[in-house]
Amino acid sequence: SVSLSVPKLDTARKDDIVANVDVFIFDCDGVIWRGDSLIDGVPETLAMLRDAGKRLFFVTNNSTKSRAGYLKKFTSLGLDVQPEEIFSSSFAAAAYLESVGFGKEGNEYTGKKVYTIGEVGIDEELDLLNIPHIGGPEDAGKRVTLAKGEMMHQDADVGAVVVGFDREVNYYKIQYATLCIRENPGCLFIATNTDAVTHLTDAQEWAGNGSMVGAIKGSTKQEPTVVGKPSPFMLDWMCNRYNIKRDQIMMVGDRLDTDILFGKDAGLRTMLVLSGVTSEELLLSPENDIKPDCYAEQLSKMLDV
Ligand code: PLP
Ligand code: CA
Repeated sequence: SVSLSVPKLDTARKDDIVANVDVFIFDCDGVIWRGDSLIDGVPETLAMLRDAGKRLFFVTNNSTKSRAGYLKKFTSLGLDVQPEEIFSSSFAAAAYLESVGFGKEGNEYTGKKVYTIGEVGIDEELDLLNIPHIGGPEDAGKRVTLAKGEMMHQDADVGAVVVGFDREVNYYKIQYATLCIRENPGCLFIATNTDAVTHLTDAQEWAGNGSMVGAIKGSTKQEPTVVGKPSPFMLDWMCNRYNIKRDQIMMVGDRLDTDILFGKDAGLRTMLVLSGVTSEELLLSPENDIKPDCYAEQLSKMLDV
């Protein structure tokens, strides 16, 4: 098979993008920041796009913070961003549950709770939508110590389990989530994202939320509903809410199997940046069949190609 190479961003492509794209969706880690460090040239590039009248959105699969948490992070990095411009997979999980009836009156999920595996981000987003929840950071450090004949019981009102990245994951949480999904009729299984590995620190790759989702898949034999990239949930939500057409949008990301796939599946223009997890070698290798429309070393190439 012929592997068509991916073109590098050049002046003609940049001019075409700036002329024809109205909406930019930026992945966060690897595009805007790396861990807690801002990537070079990002403030200037965002300012140029805003001056040109572009609409900007920031979409992250990292569920550990809420939108409000990310707003603080953007501000602390000196970036002026509106809360509505931020989409985190924690927000997506809560918005998905709201869309099926959680937190509202008069439907099959009225009064139903959510059991969360995850850090504060998911619980904060559920609170904003008045969706009751249990588990989360409160179950950190809990242990299963079963005396003879004792059983663990799940709350029968749990109607959904959300699994997000959790550095305090433990066997108690896995068993509780498993019981909810297996024993509560109709209980939903939601994954914020399924990233295999993640760059908690630059030094190495760390087990991502795919490992926590995998534990619950393994025990329940169920497939989760994924709300993070590459699922179109956040894009659909954004396009509906703001009346945006997909042919107006370009997705910029550092990861092929989440960001670029998210964009390509939805028919968006796509650009890969090499400032995150993907090397030029991997991008251009014949084994890779997820090809963005173009690529650049980093976002600021939009300024100086
Ligand atoms: N999940 C976790 C726990 C992370 O630490 C990261 C990146 O730091 C991600 C997901 C991926 O985030 P993004 O979609 O912004 O690249
Ligand atoms: Ca990324």
